[in-house]
Amino acid sequence: MEYENGYECLLFDVDDTLYPLSSGLSANCTKNIKEYMVNKLDIEESKVPDLCVQLYKDYGTTMAGLRALGYDFDHDDYHSFVHGRLPYQYLKPDHVLRSLLNSLPIRKVIFSNANEAHVAEVLSRLGLEDCFDDVICFESLNPKTQTKTPKNDGEPDGLLPKSPIVCKPSENAFQQAFKMANINPYKTLFFDDSIRNIQTAKLTGLSTVLVGSSHHTKGVDYALESIHNIREAVPELWESVNKSNDVRSSRKIAIETPVEA
Ligand SMILES: [Mg+2]
Repeated sequence: MEYENGYECLLFDVDDTLYPLSSGLSANCTKNIKEYMVNKLDIEESKVPDLCVQLYKDYGTTMAGLRALGYDFDHDDYHSFVHGRLPYQYLKPDHVLRSLLNSLPIRKVIFSNANEAHVAEVLSRLGLEDCFDDVICFESLNPKTQTKTPKNDGEPDGLLPKSPIVCKPSENAFQQAFKMANINPYKTLFFDDSIRNIQTAKLTGLSTVLVGSSHHTKGVDYALESIHNIREAVPELWESVNKSNDVRSSRKIAIETPVEA
């Protein structure tokens, strides 16, 4: 669906974007990642907290950072350890978000660094499983046949070792997602809670919404404390909808008038 001067696609991160950080799911995720590093990769426990933060910062996900450091592990095993054991019951159906999304007849696409099973579980717990037209997730960007190839991404560059994993915030991840989901970044509004993802997104031509903070910084077009505030923050999304509704209702009147006459 395309509107004149409007957006033809809404692109959404999942974790800490479609549900709030305060749900506690992400804290559990971090706990599981740390356990994986200690128990499965034999990393010294005292080094884990700092390393975890540093790799997330440098690579977008701790997993991508661990692979860059040379740790070799099965991606499915990692995901089932880190995501498979999450207390998904923390997430409840979000009727407010569901009706906001449903009131926008614009294509909606998920773009997450997480694995497919996790994305599906989150969407289903939130009651949003049928609100999106397409899902780009870990498996889309890292198909099994390619993950062993040391070539990547081009990012991060400089002195950091490269990771074979493709994920946000690398610009390459965005470009691949655009190709896969047939997205024109110049007509797309992107929602994410990570400022680094938002800043790369801006470089690719996307319009950006930082979720979970009202702090406007470089690269941020809109900033929302909660995804529930879309309507207040980006009213133009509904203006285009109303315009098309007006056209529809005026047509309806034109058809009905002769019947009433
Ligand atoms: Mg997120």
